[in-house]
Amino acid sequence: NQKGGVAKTTTTVNLAAALSEQGEKVLCIDLDPQANLTMSLGCQMPDELSYTIADIIDQAIAENPIDLMPSSIQLSGYETVLINEYGRENMLRQYVDAARPFYDHILIDCQPSLNILTINALIAADSVLIPTQPQFFSAKGLELLFQTYSKVQRKMNPDLKVEGVLVTMMDRRPNFTRGVVDLIRSTYGGSVKVFDSEIPMSIRAIECGAEGKSILAHDPKGKVAEAYRNLASEVIDNAQREKCRAYQHTAVR
Ligand code: ADP
Ligand code: MG
Repeated sequence: NQKGGVAKTTTTVNLAAALSEQGEKVLCIDLDPQANLTMSLGCQMPDELSYTIADIIDQAIAENPIDLMPSSIQLSGYETVLINEYGRENMLRQYVDAARPFYDHILIDCQPSLNILTINALIAADSVLIPTQPQFFSAKGLELLFQTYSKVQRKMNPDLKVEGVLVTMMDRRPNFTRGVVDLIRSTYGGSVKVFDSEIPMSIRAIECGAEGKSILAHDPKGKVAEAYRNLASEVIDNAQREKCRAYQHTAVR
């Protein structure tokens, strides 16, 4: 989602934590120079790291898989570094493809703009998970988002799927937010998956970003943790179904 503050980073952290809790092996890649994901996962001084995703892009090769591929401000210069590079859209893909066999899920947290880094993510990815807030303008923004998605799919990554639209920060004003969520479900539900799980608004979610912890660690019995666990189950089901489909496809062929 090109909008900031819709819980992209929060969702990356907590979906990763919930998947991991369910026994899945997860790699998180922070592709935002602001390094919020890196900080949310406990690394408070990203600019002092000696090795980040920027170095990976430099080398465009991977040696040892690790569980967090952090970001730092160093990455902010990569738009200009990449712009002159041959195959610049595929730099991240090389790394992700090398890391793929070691993980059940690889989550890439993007920044809220469609630049060369985000394009790298969309080319490296199998699918996009789109967090959105239950507000009228966010719902309208989805239209633009799907246009961008179709363009990327058509021109750069024909295999790119929509994992699902995730409604985040649901509050308890039923006739206001519920109406928007119903609109999202009726408009898009037929063509893409809109996750059954909806993430409630909670002050506990805001607290844990600064703590460098997931909400599953900070407030394990809370409703946000529960919602992210449900989301993780839906993502695992999706992956299973996708695997079956791919298997049947090869079997038929
Ligand atoms: P993005 O990565 O899309 O910019 P963030 O994940 O950084 O968005 O979230 C933006 C802000 O919203 C953060 O301050 C975060 O703590 C807060 N937030 C995220 N999820 C929730 C939630 N379920 N309830 C309340 N606040 C939330
Ligand atoms: Mg973010």
